[in-house]
Amino acid sequence: MNNQNPTELARETFKTLVQRKLSPTPDNYSAVYAEISGTPSASNEDAEQVLRKIAEHLQKSDKAAATGNTLKKIISEENWAQCYPEIEKILPRIQSENEQAQSWPVLIRDLLRQLEVPHKGLTITRKKEGLETVLTRFGSKPEILYEKIGSLVRSWSGSPVTESLIEPGTISAAAAPDSPATPTPGNLPATAAVTNPTAAPAIAPHTHSPESAAEMLSKLSELLAQTLESTISAQPEMAHEVAILTAQVRSIQNHDQVTTLAKQLRQFWLKVELRGGDKVKIQEGLVRLLRLLVENVGEMVESEEWLHGQIVTLHAIIDNPIDRHVIADAERSLRDAIIKQGLLSKSLSDAKTTLKSLMTTFIDRLGSITESTGDYHQKIEGYSRQIAQSNNLSELNSLLDAIMQDTRIVQADTLRTHEQLVDSRKQVNEAELKIQRLEKELSEVSELVHQDQLTGTLNRRGLDDAFERETKRTERNHSPMCVALLDIDNFKRLNDTLGHQVGDQALIHLSTVIKEALRPTDCVARYGGEEFVILLPDVELTEAASTIERLQRELTKQFFMHENDRILVTFSAGVAQRMSDEPQDEVVGRADKAMYQAKRSGKNRVVVAENF
Ligand code: GH3
Ligand code: MG
Ligand code: MG
Repeated sequence: MNNQNPTELARETFKTLVQRKLSPTPDNYSAVYAEISGTPSASNEDAEQVLRKIAEHLQKSDKAAATGNTLKKIISEENWAQCYPEIEKILPRIQSENEQAQSWPVLIRDLLRQLEVPHKGLTITRKKEGLETVLTRFGSKPEILYEKIGSLVRSWSGSPVTESLIEPGTISAAAAPDSPATPTPGNLPATAAVTNPTAAPAIAPHTHSPESAAEMLSKLSELLAQTLESTISAQPEMAHEVAILTAQVRSIQNHDQVTTLAKQLRQFWLKVELRGGDKVKIQEGLVRLLRLLVENVGEMVESEEWLHGQIVTLHAIIDNPIDRHVIADAERSLRDAIIKQGLLSKSLSDAKTTLKSLMTTFIDRLGSITESTGDYHQKIEGYSRQIAQSNNLSELNSLLDAIMQDTRIVQADTLRTHEQLVDSRKQVNEAELKIQRLEKELSEVSELVHQDQLTGTLNRRGLDDAFERETKRTERNHSPMCVALLDIDNFKRLNDTLGHQVGDQALIHLSTVIKEALRPTDCVARYGGEEFVILLPDVELTEAASTIERLQRELTKQFFMHENDRILVTFSAGVAQRMSDEPQDEVVGRADKAMYQAKRSGKNRVVVAENF
């Protein structure tokens, strides 16, 4: 970018400021200008000065003078915040002025014209090759392409035009025998000048007298001798041959000598022309090579290895004796190489871009997978460094291979991890279901464990749990708790009379009546064969005894029915109130004692155990 003119740089700077929505203060302008031009950041004053210079530059231009005036006004007011919209207005004008400067139709017309003009040493094929090179190198950069095609066309038009285009009159004037100063040694018009005098003596005798003819011959001989001598400056290696011929020319006395010499001169000139032509072609070839190198050296330095190779080749060419074929070969190979270099550098930069985006994607996507790809992250960083340093396609290719290999490993790892995850999730789901099922079973078993299978009341273990729970709760609430022990009266007789199964039914009936009659907070447990323990929390002893008596009454209301016979089931009970810190077996034992008292005193009654 730093080879652009200030107006173009300014345009780019303003455009960037607008795009980034930055206020065009001297600071911002300076920073962006430095970024675009590739020059170190300038100070505010520098930036202002640059702006001022651009304004002055525009003022001098016929078309952009108004734009320059406006810009200068903005700078002198120093009102940077408000000049933003003004700059935006100026921008398209600078743009259009710049576009006017790049007039493609004019360039193309010029190109077509110069293609057809036969320039010396430049065939149409060679011109097309040159154009092809420029198009290949700069086809993707239109702003540079314009400049490059322009300079190519200018280089053609700077070359001399071949003879066929020179007016016939011009040649005869330059070749006139009485104008000895006109011929230029070493180029083609000089060839005409030297060739013509050799034919001159054949014409002279028809127009002049013998005396004047002798005089004319002498003059012409001298002229020819001088002309011959002048060729030495262009072809010094032929000095010896020139000296011999010159001496012969100066000693010409008669017509025969002229005829003999004319033959020698013709051969000599053919030699000169041949050598001279080669020299000119070598010179032109070298100039073209040099131009090709100079034009492309800026691009070549991007890949130093390649440039080094080219320089070695050119050195080898220059060190050996140069002839035009060697030059032509060198030019062709250099041109080919430049085209290839252009293509390669494009594919190289494409490959680099692809790789960089590829790696960014990898790092982004695989960042979360740490365990299996820890090494991979490090490798990628390594690759990144190597790629930044590499300018060599084959090196890049091998790097790509290595990355792809590592990627395949990571993909396999990732796939495996994914499969493991899916498998684990399945196992977790199964385990959850199993746990739920087990919990359900456990809760059922647990209930069963705490329940008496026949009556559905609590069993001994259930009683233990209930006792512990209720003692804690009542202690916490400072509430009383009573325990009643019930024993069915004469149950053995019932069994014996009606059968064991009826006895079982009687037990179920009793349990059902008890559960229905009691409060939900009361707990009923089967303590032994036909013995039950009832926990009565939050009630005093008297109330507990009343409750048990109520049960007795209920049993007289709800008879146990067997084969339409009403069977009265009675029980004897002892009730005790738990004393503080009294364990279960003790309080149950006191209730049991009270129950025996009830038995002994006639059964079907409730006895209260006194607290000590
Ligand atoms: P008492 O009034 O003195 O308590 O006399 P009883 O017959 O009830 O007492 P005893 O201890 O002599 O007999 C208890 C009977 O209870 C003995 C047993 O056959 C019966 N029994 C114990 N468990 C069960 C049971 O689960 N089912 C049935 N059908 N009978 C049972
Ligand atoms: Mg009993
Ligand atoms: Mg009994």
